[in-house]
Amino acid sequence: MTMQRDEPILYLVIPCYNEEEVLPETAKRLTEKLYAMSGAGLVSPQSRILFVDDGSKDATWRLISEYSAAIPFVDGVKLAHNRGHQNALLAGLMTAMPLCDCAISMDADLQDDVDAVDRFVEKYKEGCDVVYGVRNKRETDTFFKRATAEGFYKVMQLLGVEVVFNHADYRLMSRRALEGLSEYGEVNLFLRGIVPLIGFKSDYVYYDRAERFAGESKYPLKKMISFALDGITSFSVKPLKLISNLGILISVLSIFGLLYALISYICGVAVAGWTAIVCSIWLLGGLQMLCLGVVGGYIGKIYNEVKRRPRFLIETHLRQEHRED
Ligand code: UDP
Ligand code: MG
Repeated sequence: MTMQRDEPILYLVIPCYNEEEVLPETAKRLTEKLYAMSGAGLVSPQSRILFVDDGSKDATWRLISEYSAAIPFVDGVKLAHNRGHQNALLAGLMTAMPLCDCAISMDADLQDDVDAVDRFVEKYKEGCDVVYGVRNKRETDTFFKRATAEGFYKVMQLLGVEVVFNHADYRLMSRRALEGLSEYGEVNLFLRGIVPLIGFKSDYVYYDRAERFAGESKYPLKKMISFALDGITSFSVKPLKLISNLGILISVLSIFGLLYALISYICGVAVAGWTAIVCSIWLLGGLQMLCLGVVGGYIGKIYNEVKRRPRFLIETHLRQEHRED
């Protein structure tokens, strides 16, 4: 049995940081889209475009306020300070959560194909709670960006982090998926890693990613690297385990080193004192690394505890009987 959901109140959540150059076009296209969709009865007329101003220094907020005053479909929130893309996104999604049936997050620069929105909503109506936008190919990216981005997904998968390949932050989440997200209390936010952990029925929508419509990327290399590192260290304690393994490896090697040194000593080819020094360097090095790994193991545990992530989210409850009291 497939459940068909009614036309939802859809919120388009758009984080904006210094986007004055693209905003007029973005607002125009998204408004047209929502008008068309609500006109066709695909989404509720209460749907909104929610712009999140992430502490911009240019005219972004002024533009958002103007659009909001002039266009009933447009809403906006302003963050008190620039907190970065992921936090701006979360702020928007959490603002939308009590107001919407589902929310789609997309970038302000029109790189995410606006026309794919219909397909996201279709999947939602078919009963999906999370729909991931996956880009078809990376032709519009420079070789460097493509290589680093794809390498990043590979490393994440190697480290055991569940991420959707070639999916950025263009995605639909239903209200209950958003409620699930709100249970994740972590400060180092990496939404691409968290959303798959929420679970629920999910699907993919494939789209071609365009080039930035105007203006410069707000993700320079430095931010990209720190974003990637954040993603890894927020989701995996494997780097800590690697230290333990390295310690074990060196300890084992040191046994061979010991044997070698002893044999050299017995055969009389070793310089006086060399054997003792070499043996202790190897053994101690290995032991230190191993101990570090053990400490790392505990830190890993603390790290997972302090996140206070929800341990489960219930998807269905068969007998949801209401108590009358
Ligand atoms: N963004 C943001 N806060 C920031 C940096 C970026 O809200 O500190 C927004 C930006 O306005 C855009 C989205 O995040 O809507 C993605 O940024 P951008 O397009 O510059 O990244 P790229 O596509 O180059 O990776
Ligand atoms: Mg962009």
